Amino acid sequence: MNPFFPDAFFPRVEEIEPAFLHQQGLQGVIVDLDNTLAPRHCAVCPPSARAWLDRLKADGFRLLLLSNSPSRRVRQYEEQTGVPSIPSAMKPLFGAHGRAIRRLSLPPSRVAVIGDQIYTDILGGNLAGAYTILVGPLSKGSDHLWTKLVRWVEKPVLHAYFKRHP
Ligand SMILES: [Mg+2]
Repeated sequence: MNPFFPDAFFPRVEEIEPAFLHQQGLQGVIVDLDNTLAPRHCAVCPPSARAWLDRLKADGFRLLLLSNSPSRRVRQYEEQTGVPSIPSAMKPLFGAHGRAIRRLSLPPSRVAVIGDQIYTDILGGNLAGAYTILVGPLSKGSDHLWTKLVRWVEKPVLHAYFKRHP
């Protein structure tokens, strides 16, 4: 399978139903923070994202926030959501996703990796053997210059993916 292709796509993280995750045999969820759960400059977790995390928790999923953002920002989200986190993860390098999966004490095939970026979230999740879900980015305008560049490089991959999965 193409390591740049996600197993599934949803426009927004809140649209990923617990029932869908159960159908795939998943028990754990590793979720990206910036532009997946919240816009990049947002200091407070959006209520809809919080409600989604609470629904997954209530359904028995093991959750973890995995972010390349610095500790201070990621810990704020950990406090607000009650979901444990790994900050400054350097996804997709240094086995960041493998480490996160081990933290959940689940086999990789039981874990969903959810994020808005092909070259960090999806590639890292696929290489670690997880089930990967791409979501539409929340706020492209506020991206780092680096992320803007990466999104440009992502374009042909996204094009190829959506051609195959209209
Ligand atoms: Mg992101």
